[in-house]
Amino acid sequence: MAPLEIAVFICRSDNYAVLLHDGETGRTLAIDAPDADAITAELERRGWQLTDIFTTHHHKDHVEGNLPLKARYDCRIVGPVEEALVIPGLDLAVGEGDELEFAGRPVAVFETPGHTAGHICYHFAGEKLLFTADTLFAMGCGRLFERPASDMWQSLSKLVTLPDDTEIYFGHEYTLANGCFALSVDPDNPVLKERVEAVAALREAGEYTAPTTLGLEKKTNPFLRVADPAIRAHLSMETATDADVFGEMRRQKDSF
Ligand code: ZN
Ligand code: FE
Repeated sequence: MAPLEIAVFICRSDNYAVLLHDGETGRTLAIDAPDADAITAELERRGWQLTDIFTTHHHKDHVEGNLPLKARYDCRIVGPVEEALVIPGLDLAVGEGDELEFAGRPVAVFETPGHTAGHICYHFAGEKLLFTADTLFAMGCGRLFERPASDMWQSLSKLVTLPDDTEIYFGHEYTLANGCFALSVDPDNPVLKERVEAVAALREAGEYTAPTTLGLEKKTNPFLRVADPAIRAHLSMETATDADVFGEMRRQKDSF
């Protein structure tokens, strides 16, 4: 099986659009549909026909392209069962443990409530690809709109059990701002300092920071490092639960 071709680009202002294409079957998948015009232009440029959309959650900046793209390409739309009533054009509702397929490859669904109540992530185990949208960002995590911090902590705890070399595509280019916050709670982390410098240079050059890897996130993303003694000391939360440290960090990020 030839590897999937991946096209990633930014649309709206900071949303990532990701397209996966299988050359053998011609199938093409969009992870979320932030902007129908931008996605159509990229598809046409590459000569790809959209066959599938995998929706992660109901926010407008992730589903606004669903109906226009479906009208144009008659693609299948998969999305979270907990948000089935508010995902435009939904054909197939999926939840925790469901197995999908895309171009002969199995895709697992993780329910990751927190940012929204029904948010899901898609995992291609064979390709070591994970699509986390607004649950896990490079050096950050999604804002808590619909579920408490303890739920989001559970959600992230599921994702960190995947292999370190898993490539992660996320929903927004917030990486530099996330890195600045990360430094505020984890100031003596040498890997983090180096990464933030590298990200600043990349963004200066107009380049993207996606994808990341789980291994790098485990070393630099403070929301995955709540057990770290230096971070706990910094927050004066040496004996708190992981979920409480996570919650405090998320609260500080909201007003950073
Ligand atoms: Zn969102
Ligand atoms: Fe979003």
